[in-house]
Amino acid sequence: MLCPICQYTNSRVLESRSAESGKSIRRRRECMNCQHRFTTYERIEFVTITVIKRDGKKESFNKSKLLRGIIRSCEKTGIEASQLEAVVNQIYVELQGRSQKEITSAEIGEIVLSKLSGISEVAYIRFASVYRKFQGIRDFVDTLNHLQNQKDNLGFTATLPQSSEISLQQDGLDCKTAKVRN
Ligand SMILES: [Zn+2]
Repeated sequence: MLCPICQYTNSRVLESRSAESGKSIRRRRECMNCQHRFTTYERIEFVTITVIKRDGKKESFNKSKLLRGIIRSCEKTGIEASQLEAVVNQIYVELQGRSQKEITSAEIGEIVLSKLSGISEVAYIRFASVYRKFQGIRDFVDTLNHLQNQKDNLGFTATLPQSSEISLQQDGLDCKTAKVRN
């Protein structure tokens, strides 16, 4: 760290302590050339993740927006909001850990699905229907089968409900209900 007075590059640390409720470390330093004392702060760098949307537009990753979308598709599934919040936080941490700082909305959708598949089948199907833009019953059936195969491969004994009531809602405009039978 350059000394603000003489621009010398070496300083020694006199004191380090936690600051901003643990979010940074404050260091008291002394220039090894002119003995000027100054303070530095060390913080974690949070990288902005850029999401590339379906239409090619870019926007920065927004945790609360993702959470709102997931909460909407998980309405009346009995999943606690805190559980969904934990999912979004997990995704955020995973994205921060990636070397790439750009991700497509489709990739995010797949990550969400992989998390939801372990929580609720109905939530999984609903979320898939919105983000994969299901066109008809065929898409629901294919996704249900895919989910079933995943479970079979993992050796789960759980089976899908005989009949799943799935409501598909997009932007509050187009609302229809599909009844899917295995
Ligand atoms: Zn100095």
